[in-house]
Amino acid sequence: MLWPMRRTTYCGKVSEENIGQRVVLEGWVNRRRDLGGLIFIDLRDREGILQVVINPGSVPFAEADRVRSEWVVRVEGTVRARPAEQANSRIATGKVEVVAEALQTLSEARTLPFQIDAGWRGEDDQNVSEDVRLRQRVVDLRRKRLHQNLRLRHKFITAIYRFLDSEGFISVETPFLTRSTPEGARDFLVPSRLEPGSFYALPQSPQLFKQMLMVAGYDRYFQIARCFRDEDLRADRQPDFTQLDLEMSFVTQEDVLDLNERLAAYVVKETLGLEIPLPFPRLTYAQAMNRFGSDKPDLRFGLEFTDVTEVFKGGEFRAFASAQAVKALLVPANLPRKEIDALEAVAKSKGAAGLAWVKRENGALTGGIAKFIPPSLHQHLEIAEGQTALFVAGPWRRSVESLGAVRLELGKRLNLIESGYNFAWVIDFPLLDWDEDNQRWTYMHHPFTSPNLDDLEHLQSDPGRVRAYAYDLVLNGSEAGGGSIRIHRRDLQERMFAQLGIGAEEAQEKFGFLLEALSYGAPPHGGIAWGLDRWVANLAGEESIREVIAFPKNKEGKETLTGAPSTVDSDQLAMLGIAVKE
Ligand code: ASP
Repeated sequence: MLWPMRRTTYCGKVSEENIGQRVVLEGWVNRRRDLGGLIFIDLRDREGILQVVINPGSVPFAEADRVRSEWVVRVEGTVRARPAEQANSRIATGKVEVVAEALQTLSEARTLPFQIDAGWRGEDDQNVSEDVRLRQRVVDLRRKRLHQNLRLRHKFITAIYRFLDSEGFISVETPFLTRSTPEGARDFLVPSRLEPGSFYALPQSPQLFKQMLMVAGYDRYFQIARCFRDEDLRADRQPDFTQLDLEMSFVTQEDVLDLNERLAAYVVKETLGLEIPLPFPRLTYAQAMNRFGSDKPDLRFGLEFTDVTEVFKGGEFRAFASAQAVKALLVPANLPRKEIDALEAVAKSKGAAGLAWVKRENGALTGGIAKFIPPSLHQHLEIAEGQTALFVAGPWRRSVESLGAVRLELGKRLNLIESGYNFAWVIDFPLLDWDEDNQRWTYMHHPFTSPNLDDLEHLQSDPGRVRAYAYDLVLNGSEAGGGSIRIHRRDLQERMFAQLGIGAEEAQEKFGFLLEALSYGAPPHGGIAWGLDRWVANLAGEESIREVIAFPKNKEGKETLTGAPSTVDSDQLAMLGIAVKE
């Protein structure tokens, strides 16, 4: 035998064009079937599967008889057409097969903890719990779906590089071991061995480094950046995640939005071949909240709110009479009581006191709060026969957000969500947010975001009404990106710190390096970061970002494949001057 022959092509790439050619293939045995002496092996590699036929009495027959699923083998043979009636339209190579002349086992395999072959045959993969999948991630990663997702991710990232390079951006790396970079989350800390008692922080984002790069003259920076945030676990978060981070100098908000729209359209076209119309619609924060109850509204369906605060003001219905806001949602369906109860539970989970409702049945308003509805409601809200109106009243933010959650639930329940990629900008965010728990103003985006200069005069007197030059890119109701124009003047940055309750001394101690940089001549600048994992999940049609990350953490923040986090040797701790309390 003339081994070692080298691989001539990928299994999944063999087609009718190769009929009559000799090929050498290397890959995994996706499935082996023994049909009365004739052996079929579906050989798999990253490109797909290909049927290999081993005739009885042929040289490779004895070895083919021995191999099992997931063994790694090398096959030499000749490509031929399958008889038409045996063609398999579910796989790309379904019109051909390879008749083996030699077969060599490169490595044997134990039985897998779960089967991964079906997806490659165009069938549904075995249903396996995510726990098992993540613990056995190497096996799981063999599945076709994950191969596709990771390749989509690669396509997405290379498209970003192409586009931004053509627009004059340069990629610069920033450190992992650094000082705390506040983005509103807890830091992951790394103890210093050389300076016991001191800690590095892993960056929550490259924010301050990219700003300092702007001060240093590196206009148009980008980075596919890993970020680390020790946040409380939410369903779709990872403690370490990836951003497309970018920053530009001498720009206005318009410039940043324009560049990002074109980039978004480009990457969608490059990855999925879809045309995205430009420009993206824009909503102010106030509009988004008032109409859809979310600062990342899902605009794939309607169901906009109507403000009926004035209608009920001072009226008979006590719960609504003095509420800061009363918002109504007209539902084009006669919702049964059970559905309304379920929706009320959604509203309450977001802090609403309740979900009031009326319906029009047989011409009359019935049920719920029907007897409290003032006639003037109809000027604002036309409830037609068979429709249901839902109401939430209370403090403005809580009311709109809880009705917003009801709206999303209705979108799903009533099947209103259109497929496709729906982009929008939300702009004019407030600069500051009132922190109920600590009874103080805090930043909405981060402390380096520029106030809208038109509102600056209110910064002390009425902080809540100051808008920021901050913007979010929304895709199908999820936040695909967020950024801002930054403060580039030291005096304004100092004022901002003061407004946030960060005294001069603390500002100097924590952000002295930034303030100093700003005092050496800083250009106006601004940028954005995209949540890359969520972006790819959206493009891949996946619900969870864990499906587009090779080695994700589970919902508890653990990486069960290698077993992280784990305890470490006492020697290691001693070296760091650390003792763990029981
Ligand atoms: N650093 C910000 C973030 O991670 C993004 C930005 O303002 O550019 O959300």
